[in-house]
Amino acid sequence: MSAVDLSRWEPVIGLEIHVQLLTRTKMFCGCALSFGDAPNSHTCPVCLAHPGVLPVLNREAVRLAIVTGLALGCEIAPHSQFHRKNYFYPDLSKAYQISQYDEPICVGGHVSVLTPDGEFEVGITRAHLEEDAAKLVHVGGGGRRAGAESSGVDFNRGGTPLLEIVSEPDIRTSAQAGAFLRQLRSTLRRLGVSDCNMDEGSMRADANVSVRPAGSTELGTKTELKNMNSFRFLERGVDAEIARQVAILEAGGAVTQETLHYDPDLNEIHSLRSKEEAHDYRYFPEPDLVPVVPDRSWIEELRAGLPELPVDLRRRWVRDLGISFEDAEVLSEPRELVAYFEDVAGRVDAKAAANWVRGELRAQLRELGQEPWESRVTPAHLAELIGLIDDRTLSVPLAKEVLAEVIASGAAPAAVVEEKGLGQISDEGALVEIVERLLAENPDQAAQLREGKDKLVGFFVGQAMKASGGRADPARVGALVREKSGLS
Ligand SMILES: [Zn+2]
Repeated sequence: MSAVDLSRWEPVIGLEIHVQLLTRTKMFCGCALSFGDAPNSHTCPVCLAHPGVLPVLNREAVRLAIVTGLALGCEIAPHSQFHRKNYFYPDLSKAYQISQYDEPICVGGHVSVLTPDGEFEVGITRAHLEEDAAKLVHVGGGGRRAGAESSGVDFNRGGTPLLEIVSEPDIRTSAQAGAFLRQLRSTLRRLGVSDCNMDEGSMRADANVSVRPAGSTELGTKTELKNMNSFRFLERGVDAEIARQVAILEAGGAVTQETLHYDPDLNEIHSLRSKEEAHDYRYFPEPDLVPVVPDRSWIEELRAGLPELPVDLRRRWVRDLGISFEDAEVLSEPRELVAYFEDVAGRVDAKAAANWVRGELRAQLRELGQEPWESRVTPAHLAELIGLIDDRTLSVPLAKEVLAEVIASGAAPAAVVEEKGLGQISDEGALVEIVERLLAENPDQAAQLREGKDKLVGFFVGQAMKASGGRADPARVGALVREKSGLS
């Protein structure tokens, strides 16, 4: 991709996100949802589209759509309708998909997206319910359609409830697109709407991208980048498409409205097909389903039951606890981690709590395949450990050792320090003795130090830490080294 001058152009980006809903059963039949089970083991006449069968709407899917709409600030339509979207593909045995068209269940919301650089707003055009298609499995040819020897259809996925969330074209950079999608994922997970596993396809994002001259308010011709299945690919794909369009326009050409595929391995964009229009699908109301008319009292009950959303939680933590946005983002899901962190942060300095929970605790536990809330380290233990660093009983390296012991035994940190004799050397005389001995044992370095070679302070601190088995206070040793060698 050749370098392009972006200063004269403004990208305009909107996202369409499909998420699989965390219902127990499919959208219009009683088959269980599954991932990774034997092909065609969760099917019935409805999701196989046998003649004469009738769909029955899954109430839980409607509930999850309403909860999402409320969290995204949408209006819940008092009356919405399913339509048939007609097209043929081997993974769609009915030759139509049941979807929503001009009467979606959620309309007109907006979200505020938090980033390290502040907040920006994204409008939500709509969110609507639909069913997923089945899945084609290609045999031979490396599992790709091109070059495959044969292809089969796995109907396990067919009829899975999907929610399609469509944003307004309010996004201006690939980084904003990524931030919006990440926050949306946390929100949907917090609501229990979807597990949003991009690598399993339970969250898939398409990006509508156009560019226009900087300062213009008219929209340029947009293209649609399909099915990006990771945040990194989304950001790289959007950047590649912006660069491609700018290059075309700068050369005096015109962008064609089409559907594109981004190949992350080659960092290349390929055309899939010319963009179809809505009328190509011959939408018409689904005659086998009644309109969705949710009870207002049910909607209000769901609104009242909404949890604190990740965006509000993060904003509150950054404002009230003074922790960084990055810490807040990492610690704000899952909810067990939220509870764990808030417990620790209620006992000690919140920044230290964030550091330890996010950093050393999770690093040590990861090796054991444990999460903080499942481990033997209670929030009280971790707060006690941080307290032992604050009152200089423990250096940070020693605290890490103590933590490993608490993880293994479940003993309180102070008891571990006591039992293992791990406390920092607080006896000034003992530290002076170590420093004086080291200066005598390393006469060359000591001489250079006295001549003002400041860097050697670190050398002596390192030696002192080694000599004390990590139990010396490095700051105190550094001060003593300076004092004894005549540096100020
Ligand atoms: Zn079924």
